[in-house]
Amino acid sequence: MEHARGDVLDREGFLELGTKALEDLIEHPPKRGELLYFCIRMTSGTSGRTPIVMASEHKKGTPVGFKKGRAVVISQGGNNARLGNVLFTLTNTEDPTRILAIDDSDLKPQLEELLQDLKPDALRGFPSFMRRVGEYLGDAKGEVRAMKITGEKWTPSMQADFERTFPKANFEVIYGIVEVGVVATSECPNLERNHYHPVDDAVVDVDAPDETGAGELLISRPFYRGFRTVRYRVGDIGRIDPEPCVCGKMSFELFGRRGSDFFKVAGAVLFREEFDRVASECRDLFDDYRAEVSRRTEKGIECGHIELSVFRRDGKWSKTIGRDIAGRFSGELFLTRTRTLEDLVQAGYFDPLVVVRKKEPFPFKSKEVKLSERRTTP
Ligand SMILES: [Zn+2]
Repeated sequence: MEHARGDVLDREGFLELGTKALEDLIEHPPKRGELLYFCIRMTSGTSGRTPIVMASEHKKGTPVGFKKGRAVVISQGGNNARLGNVLFTLTNTEDPTRILAIDDSDLKPQLEELLQDLKPDALRGFPSFMRRVGEYLGDAKGEVRAMKITGEKWTPSMQADFERTFPKANFEVIYGIVEVGVVATSECPNLERNHYHPVDDAVVDVDAPDETGAGELLISRPFYRGFRTVRYRVGDIGRIDPEPCVCGKMSFELFGRRGSDFFKVAGAVLFREEFDRVASECRDLFDDYRAEVSRRTEKGIECGHIELSVFRRDGKWSKTIGRDIAGRFSGELFLTRTRTLEDLVQAGYFDPLVVVRKKEPFPFKSKEVKLSERRTTP
């Protein structure tokens, strides 16, 4: 069913709303005792646009804390996100808690000793980063009981990897957005991978669903005092499950997150998962990759451009290898359900794939960004 445009809150609308909330917090500062529940947040800017600065509120009891956790390692996102999660963990965890907040600049040999001493029983963060933290945990890996996973798609290979690395841990995946906080969790044991129940005060809907029910998610949720988003288009793609869960609650499936899992270019949706799949098929040709997507408009028609940077551990390179990669990658990468990149190049929607050789391994940040968008200034 088609919705009227005005029915949906877009980013510009939220910018206005978030700014009003911030003004309200400045005009009516929180009282003593309320302090931990208010904070000023800023969006990460990964969308390439100016970050939004807003006020937000976090009620006690939101599922961000660990019910019981005596030592927690938090490694989620930038300073802003980590600090927020330290505060929410402190306010939501029943027992006294020791917290260590780290980012990629802390991944040094000294971290090993610190972690062995802390013996964390709970971890929270992006899975690609927690996998790296695991390398510093040594035997203490066996102490980890609870993991809250967020920010990246929870893939079968990640789950298998984590079950091996943290054999006693229980994994919960949290779906949240900076603007309103936690939206949904996978806590219910009846849910399949990448399916979630919205938290009590959140409503999840789909904008202009296609014939399979998939479309952009719309999030309604209070985020500060009397302020709430109503049908906020966050850009993530998902689908409402046709049948309620065994527990009786509605659930939805999350296909991908804008800015890290997929991009929309020239009418096609480029999923990182698909890039990963093809990269693993091309294991004999390269060991690691990064893909950068850009677009240009010619005579009113958008044309997509993909640059694939590849790294080979053995250092071997020739023009033939480059050509082989371009040919195989384009022929196997599906950008729509039925058409590959090669098909879309022939139809004129995409430029031929450009392959660039990197001599050094790709640097690792707190989030593993393999598919990104290059923004050309107009
Ligand atoms: Zn359920």
